[in-house]
Amino acid sequence: MITQGVKITTRCHDCGGELTRDVGQFTERGQVRWGIEGQCQNCPNAWCEQGSGATPEEIREALLAQQGPARLRLAGPEPSMVPVLRALRELHGLSLAQARAMAHELRTTGLTGTLVEMECVAAGLRRRSVAVTIETAAG
Ligand SMILES: [Zn+2]
Repeated sequence: MITQGVKITTRCHDCGGELTRDVGQFTERGQVRWGIEGQCQNCPNAWCEQGSGATPEEIREALLAQQGPARLRLAGPEPSMVPVLRALRELHGLSLAQARAMAHELRTTGLTGTLVEMECVAAGLRRRSVAVTIETAAG
């Protein structure tokens, strides 16, 4: 399982104390899921939340800000675009036009997103024998 998480500290709505939230993304059955676990340091205010589908922007921004974006590129000789388009459409439920735009990005500048998102796309592409590499800010 691939997971990526960061901590965000904010103020508690109930008591004004320090509230710590662990937010992150992970993959489950080839799909990106997200989670939030919040806990106040001063009062019993605590909750957790999980979801699939589009990750809330706040979580993506926190992951990207603290860990940097990951860049997915095609590796090796230019593959046929057919398996690439299939894999992208399968993962994201994209229209053919959207998948084409995404494939173009992958072929030129590389596709960017959080590490979990890119690992998930990479896994889908590798299942269709498309060689890819992931570059992260950390190296
Ligand atoms: Zn509190």
